[in-house]
Amino acid sequence: MSMELFSIASGSSGNCICAGNDRHHVLIDAGISGKRIETGMNAMDYTTKDMDGILVTHEHADHIAGLGVLMRRYGLPVYATQGTIDAMLSGGKLGKVDEGLFHPIVADQKFTIGTLNIHPIHISHDAADPVAYIIQDQSSGKKVGVITDLGTYDDYIIERISGLSALLLEANHDVNMLQVGPYPYQLKRRILGERGHLSNETSGRLLGKILNDHVVHIFLGHLSAENNYGRLALETVVSEVSFGDNPYKGTDFNITIASRHEVSERIVV
Ligand SMILES: [Zn+2]
Ligand SMILES: [Zn+2]
Repeated sequence: MSMELFSIASGSSGNCICAGNDRHHVLIDAGISGKRIETGMNAMDYTTKDMDGILVTHEHADHIAGLGVLMRRYGLPVYATQGTIDAMLSGGKLGKVDEGLFHPIVADQKFTIGTLNIHPIHISHDAADPVAYIIQDQSSGKKVGVITDLGTYDDYIIERISGLSALLLEANHDVNMLQVGPYPYQLKRRILGERGHLSNETSGRLLGKILNDHVVHIFLGHLSAENNYGRLALETVVSEVSFGDNPYKGTDFNITIASRHEVSERIVV
């Protein structure tokens, strides 16, 4: 079966991505209101009820702000590491939820949701036990990935996210805009640190290492509202890919920005 990927919202103000095949779908994070998620689903002729589960990357508010509502309203199963589950519950951010809906998962241990294989991978970020997710159709083997909220990458990440047909990759900030911008010093250090967020430059470098002939589309996502803008992120990533040590040019691929507020195009691979 083919796989599809689209973004309902992506950015430092809230994240919710949808992936699936003809039979099963998951949301990756629920960091916007339940109402906005339902509106986004409707734009793609789905409803939130059609989802077979929610994969949570980590406990930061921009990834879970709507999660409690979705759990209460739709009773959807929620997959997250035990560290993330504990942090969400101790933070009290979910309100009262049925804890029986939580399914603890472990990084590097594949699990299945219907006809989808889900591969959680470790990421370097300042949360309890954060992961990114690769979602794979069992019959065709096609994979899509959602890779955000990581301060750095290494060979482990490159190996795990190679071979994707489509992905949403973080391009959080422009380093210069961040450095001269209004954020307090400690926050700048956090974002720039090894457990912060990928800059446009680092995002382009990582992309150059994982591109392959099967890539159909790349979304750049989790853009900072204050320290980035779409055109700059695109230009920087495209030029990093083009001048990097790989056989591709940045213009060989469809690369678009996953918007903070609008539902993206639907990518089918
Ligand atoms: Zn985060
Ligand atoms: Zn985030």
